[in-house]
Amino acid sequence: MYLVADINVEICAATSCKLCTQFCPEANTILYNNDAGKEKGLKYGSAYVAVDRCKGCAQCVWVCDNMAKHHAIKMVMIDQLPQAAITDNVTYGEKDTTALLVSQMVG
Ligand code: SF4
Ligand code: SF4
Repeated sequence: MYLVADINVEICAATSCKLCTQFCPEANTILYNNDAGKEKGLKYGSAYVAVDRCKGCAQCVWVCDNMAKHHAIKMVMIDQLPQAAITDNVTYGEKDTTALLVSQMVG
């Protein structure tokens, strides 16, 4: 088991921030869902992590804590995630990567 980034939708969707999506060193790993917050009655969408691409570097945690100052990301053991997104579709050049929300990953 290993650590991956997990984004708290309630915190993230309370802001219009998308900062962490610009700093993750892994392509197409932190993505943004415009409807994630609205589904929960919140104002904005939320960033989310394709955990099968996350390398556990925690740069996004630093960005959210120290640059955005929202403290919405924590590193979590992958089998403890309440909800996970995995990569659904990767095409050449990774321009069309999408991720799919799945239920808890317990293995
Ligand atoms: S930096 Fe934090 S608040 Fe901003 S988009 Fe990322 S998770 Fe959300
Ligand atoms: S821990 Fe690193 S690889 Fe994973 S989402 Fe955050 S910045 Fe990207």
